[in-house]
Amino acid sequence: MTTHHPDVTLLAHNYVRPDVQAAADFVGDSLELARLARDRVDTPYLVVAGVDFMAETACLLNPTKTVIHPEPFSRCAMALRLTPEDVLAARKRYPDAAVVAYVNTSAEVKAVSDVCCTSANAVDIVNALEEETVLFVPDRNLALYVAARSDKRVIHVPANGCCPVHHALTAEQVRETRRSYPGAEVMVHPETTPEVQAEADFIGSTSGMLKHAVQSTSRTMIVGTEIGLIPLLEKAAPGRRFIPASPYLVCTDMKMITLDVIEEAIERKGPIVTIPEPIASRARNALERMLTLSRG
Ligand code: SF4
Repeated sequence: MTTHHPDVTLLAHNYVRPDVQAAADFVGDSLELARLARDRVDTPYLVVAGVDFMAETACLLNPTKTVIHPEPFSRCAMALRLTPEDVLAARKRYPDAAVVAYVNTSAEVKAVSDVCCTSANAVDIVNALEEETVLFVPDRNLALYVAARSDKRVIHVPANGCCPVHHALTAEQVRETRRSYPGAEVMVHPETTPEVQAEADFIGSTSGMLKHAVQSTSRTMIVGTEIGLIPLLEKAAPGRRFIPASPYLVCTDMKMITLDVIEEAIERKGPIVTIPEPIASRARNALERMLTLSRG
């Protein structure tokens, strides 16, 4: 991609189409892309192959670059469910609590939060805070995962926030896939329900799963996250079999980003992501605080 477009860096999330991943300069999870966007991009244009909040994050961490989100209709269904007003109302109910916003939120929600987190660092971020009570937005399942690994009081807001893709995976589907592949190891994402997590041998972010797959001795692994990770697992750990825990683990918003859409966006240098002040400064503070706290 950079061979043809020397002034463009293409960042791709682990869940986008394999041909988009193959064309990208960098592929990673939300935390890796956030760091890359801030530290490794030296071209004037940055194209983000992922859903809306990922392009916003790149824009917030890279204010001197022009960030292009090739398909503005590619929006995270979980992030869309939470408004800044929801967060402010929860803050009123728990004035002593810190607000931890999963990166899967809008810039407006980040702007009224104290710190961001990703699924890779959520436990570390919550445990690093001084406050004893944490309002965790917006993923209920990730909040419950964190609460089980922290002494803090973790309250999830809203009550039913979730990723519709991961939340739809059932414990019975996991058991059924296990029956079809006896001896296989099961890895799931913390956005899955506690019942699904209870069935798993390993729970982790997409980058955590990639690392675990390389170290594991299992020949077959059942994967409870969006199917875009499967080709990356196959590349990272050749010779192993990776089986989706369900054929329905597909985020249609991630799949809206195609090579054609990217090429067209690069040609017309847009759509450009813009975030007005003071939302941008406040949201950037929450992201920068996450990167500082999760540095170690
Ligand atoms: S997989 Fe879920 S959390 Fe990730 S972008 Fe799609 S809807 Fe959002």
